[in-house]
Amino acid sequence: MIEAFRDLLRIPTVSTRDAAAWDHAAFDAFLEALKGHFPRLHELPLTRVGRHGLLFHWAGVSSAKPIVLMAHSDVVPVEGEWTHPPFDAVVEDGIIWGRGTLDCKGSLVAICQAVENLLTAGHVPAQDVWLSFGCDEEVAGDAAPLAVEELRRRGVTPWFVLDEGGAVAYDAFPGVAKPIAVIGVTEKGITSLELRVDGRGGHASTPAPLGPTARLARAITRLDRSPMRASAPDATVELFRRAAPHAKPPMRYALTTAVRSRALLTRLLLAAGPEAAAMARSTFAVTTLSGSPAMNVVAATATAGVNIRILVGDTMAGVIRHVRRVIKDPQVRITVIDEGEPSPSSPLDDAFDLIADVTSAHFPEALTSPYVMMAATDARHFTKISERVYRFTPFEMTKQQRESIHTNDEHITVDAYLKGVAWYGALIQRLPTG
Ligand SMILES: [Zn+2]
Repeated sequence: MIEAFRDLLRIPTVSTRDAAAWDHAAFDAFLEALKGHFPRLHELPLTRVGRHGLLFHWAGVSSAKPIVLMAHSDVVPVEGEWTHPPFDAVVEDGIIWGRGTLDCKGSLVAICQAVENLLTAGHVPAQDVWLSFGCDEEVAGDAAPLAVEELRRRGVTPWFVLDEGGAVAYDAFPGVAKPIAVIGVTEKGITSLELRVDGRGGHASTPAPLGPTARLARAITRLDRSPMRASAPDATVELFRRAAPHAKPPMRYALTTAVRSRALLTRLLLAAGPEAAAMARSTFAVTTLSGSPAMNVVAATATAGVNIRILVGDTMAGVIRHVRRVIKDPQVRITVIDEGEPSPSSPLDDAFDLIADVTSAHFPEALTSPYVMMAATDARHFTKISERVYRFTPFEMTKQQRESIHTNDEHITVDAYLKGVAWYGALIQRLPTG
């Protein structure tokens, strides 16, 4: 199992926003190798989605409650200094090093391995199982939306969808020694705006007051001073409620008091630094800025890009209204560049309980809890066809490992990978009949 995983890690399926720079041969080689390692899986009906996406259909005894297991084959480019080369899949002291070990070939290959094992054992799942493997998640490509369209065309309404996201996270919570298996039930929406001020350019020796750059700066400062109203969403309250009793004193007292009131918990999060504050409200980040290209020329146009992460409970329209209101300047033109509403919250009902129960059985020392995902995943597209979209990767991860995703020294332990394979197998075996 480990050799199959390593072989697939060695193929550099890096996705890029520049279509011309895309290494299609690497993706072709990856899909070919996947077929070689998992021949029984590849006997299942398979639909190609987009250029390199895959949608497998494993028919169950019933198709009343179909599920979709998701992952993606693409990885982000290599960054920073690596202890071991990123595409060598070196195994040392029980650790597999390489780009994609956690994000997200680990779960893609673990799902394939679990299905291959069950097919070999002659297992027939109680419900239809669909496997949807995207190829361009890291560049927000169209494989996942196309898979959603394909499922919709076939009349499939998934009982639940499971994609990457949370993990069995160590050191996730201040003062809590136990790992917490966090299952994402919603994710923030990503929207981008451009702020633009046009005015009179000219020579830098004769500037007029409040020109485009100054006016833009004033707008940015106003926005920075007026964040959105904060309120911890239900999933965050639930995460703190479940974790609080396991914290060490005095953190335990602070947390158990805070979770009694949403307002109090919100205040605590806002006071605990930018990461915690982002759990309690929609955020604005001014990312790009431009004015004049020359030191001695007054800008006739100044622009700023604002990246907005919208928390469940807020809407794009509401956030844009807020931006307009706090900037208070009709000469600052606001244009929407990218649209993205937050995902609706998935319920904590029987499907969530199944995921949580399998997790408790395989990771008995871990707490399980819903949470709000801060990053975007392909899963958000599936909220169009399913009420229950969960984001969870059944791998134990330290804080250091979570931080290695998208940077250098990404790695997984052999043990964590094998436990992940067992977890996916158990999930499929425990699908309810009827
Ligand atoms: Zn990913």
